[in-house]
Amino acid sequence: MEKQFRADLHCHTTCSDGILSPAELIQRAKEKQLQGVSITDHDSINAYPIAILEAKKENIDLISGVEFSTSHLETTVHILAYSFSVTNTHIKRFCQKHQERRQERNREILKLLAANNMSINEADLTASHPGATLGRPHIAWEMVKKGYVQSMSDAFHLFIGENKSCYVRGASVSIEEAIDCIHQANGFAVIAHPHLIKEPHIVKDLLKMKFDGLEGYYARMNPKQNERWIRLATKKDWLITGGSDFHGDMKYSIDLGSSWVGEDTFRILKDRFDQNSIA
Ligand code: AMP
Ligand code: ZN
Ligand code: FE
Ligand code: FE
Repeated sequence: MEKQFRADLHCHTTCSDGILSPAELIQRAKEKQLQGVSITDHDSINAYPIAILEAKKENIDLISGVEFSTSHLETTVHILAYSFSVTNTHIKRFCQKHQERRQERNREILKLLAANNMSINEADLTASHPGATLGRPHIAWEMVKKGYVQSMSDAFHLFIGENKSCYVRGASVSIEEAIDCIHQANGFAVIAHPHLIKEPHIVKDLLKMKFDGLEGYYARMNPKQNERWIRLATKKDWLITGGSDFHGDMKYSIDLGSSWVGEDTFRILKDRFDQNSIA
């Protein structure tokens, strides 16, 4: 029997808050016998130059991806983008804008932590993760290393989680802006892990926006939620994507390939990616 085609469309590397390097991620995909992968680092496509070479070597179909942090009425919404060319200037500029937003925000968070006797040096933080999109997971990790908290989860629950004493929202980027950027790059804009959006009025707004799909297969989504989102996407004739959101041990112990899409969905994304990459 022919091996079932599986493509994991959501995972992170050391270019954001994952623990595997881009090359190691492709090796893991090989071990997991995945035929297709999209690397979706937070606000960064830096994994691609190396990942493309490695994927070619291992005969894995790699398509472009990135996970943008946006907000709508003060609610954080993650948006996955697929199939753009990795040299596209709209996407590159948008990633750069996010890096600047994050740098400002991280500085504010470090200031609040310092005021609470938990000093973390920005230069140390940057040096520990060269070239990575830095965010709260890295700060949480540093807090554990310095013994300020016992676990990353404590760091979030006690200090840097949403609305905790050292939380900073930072400058916000709207969903519409992200969708526009993705469409300018002729990519697909997809709502990431939609089940995490709890407020019905936000969901209602999202369903009216110009998305091309939503992430309907997601390891930590329960079957009931799964059904609901797949029904909604089907009704709107949207793409239904899926992936593990694998980070490695830095966050949860969800392995690469624990959620995936089949050949038909992957083919749609891959055809567009090839078309954009030649153009
Ligand atoms: P940031 O993009 O800097 O706001 O950081 C958000 C990241 O932190 C997301 O990828 C979340 O999954 C992760 N995160 C949020 N809450 C927690 C938590 N309680 N424990 C571990 N990671 C978390
Ligand atoms: Zn992450
Ligand atoms: Fe996310
Ligand atoms: Fe993610």
